[in-house]
Amino acid sequence: VEAAIGVDIGGTSLKFAAVDREGRVLRHWTRPTPAGNAAEGIMSELLAGVERMLEELAETEPAVRLAGIGIGSAGQIRASDGSVAFAVDTIPGWTNTPIKRLVEERFPSLPTFVDNDVNVLALAEQYYGAGRGVRDFVCLALGTGIGGAVVQGGKLVHGAYGGAGEFGHMSVDFNGPRCSCGNFGCIELYASGSGIQRLLQERFAGASPGWELTPAGLTTAWQAGDALAKETMDIVVAALGSALAGIIHALNPEAIVLGGGILDHAPALLPAIVAATEKRTSPVMWKHVRLLPALSGNQSGVIGAAAQVWQHSLTSSEGER
Ligand SMILES: [Zn+2]
Repeated sequence: VEAAIGVDIGGTSLKFAAVDREGRVLRHWTRPTPAGNAAEGIMSELLAGVERMLEELAETEPAVRLAGIGIGSAGQIRASDGSVAFAVDTIPGWTNTPIKRLVEERFPSLPTFVDNDVNVLALAEQYYGAGRGVRDFVCLALGTGIGGAVVQGGKLVHGAYGGAGEFGHMSVDFNGPRCSCGNFGCIELYASGSGIQRLLQERFAGASPGWELTPAGLTTAWQAGDALAKETMDIVVAALGSALAGIIHALNPEAIVLGGGILDHAPALLPAIVAATEKRTSPVMWKHVRLLPALSGNQSGVIGAAAQVWQHSLTSSEGER
């Protein structure tokens, strides 16, 4: 059996897994991100975790041959050398960390690949999910923020330095509130976990709607048919429809894969989002695109991280032909 080590580095946890070519997880565990989230602490936790995985695999799965290491990380990752081009304050000091070089120095026999955490989610979809057999698609991950990834002609689009697909900062209202990025009315301010929280504070300042003022409280009340919840959710859905229509007109994808956050809590939102997007998209563009749910479960991050290894070995064998 051939396997790759997949690592998912986030602001709250580090996930490790050994994954085979079929996307089966042979072994996995999660560790909390080291206190303070300092870059050095995360890097040493990462190296120790890979070391431990190698030891455990040698003991329990002696038939497994390791093909490499794939890492998905929060932040924008330079495709050229697997270093961090830019990361927000969730991991202080992460910017410019040469992740690929440090891992390969420690494990010279294992080729290592690093990409942004949402880009590796797109790889998981391409290999094992809604993106199978689809050459042009977009992933949108609705989490605390909103992340995106673009696959064109079967390949991830990285842009000049790894920042492509940051759809969270597409504006859906140029008169909207100021975003941390500098723009106004970014979709992240309406449809991410933190954006929904912001909307709820704005709409119910001081007054209780009779349910908990959190994204989970909103989705629960919305599913129960609460009228105030519907009013707020209509804003979330319209904002998403506006952003998705923009993405469709810009990239003409065959599919948009939607996952994370509110959709995990309320799958019934997908048809509402589809309707809001159709209303805002020119009919000929709309005819060729499907909106699909992402792979469920929280292992997509490590599975997609590991898939970088398969993607690379595929590319190099194609090059040899
Ligand atoms: Zn923004």
